[in-house]
Amino acid sequence: MPIDATAPYDDQNIFARILRGEIPARKVYEDEWALAFHDIAAQAPVHVLVIPKGRYVSWDDFSESAPADEIAGFVRAVGRVARTERLVEPGYRLLANVGAHGGQEVPHFHVHLFGGKPLGPMLARQDG
Ligand code: 5GP
Repeated sequence: MPIDATAPYDDQNIFARILRGEIPARKVYEDEWALAFHDIAAQAPVHVLVIPKGRYVSWDDFSESAPADEIAGFVRAVGRVARTERLVEPGYRLLANVGAHGGQEVPHFHVHLFGGKPLGPMLARQDG
């Protein structure tokens, strides 16, 4: 079910629980600002989620409310994850879903990092 990106932060969301260590995740990177782990339902040979450690519902919330050092730390972490996964030379795709039309399902801001094969068109073709 897509979430409302304007709702208040829910401390029981699944990524908050992963951050607290209450639910396991296959971690690939962690630093002061971010945690990266494999998506449980991978949609590409490499499908990693990168999340900030702070409490932000969506890109909208993060870009509006996060302090500059947290934004910089998170952006650098995303780049590091891509390098760690050896995705820079072959290329990769970043995606952030926001709210209902974006299809966001987990109400803790996250970036999807896809790679490992040519990823095709940016969006599936659809009528209308
Ligand atoms: P969204 O649609 O919110 O952008 O993407 C949420 C992503 O989180 C989905 O790709 C989904 O497979 C992934 N996901 C949901 N629950 C879990 C979980 O418990 N562990 C991991 N590793 N990924 C999850």
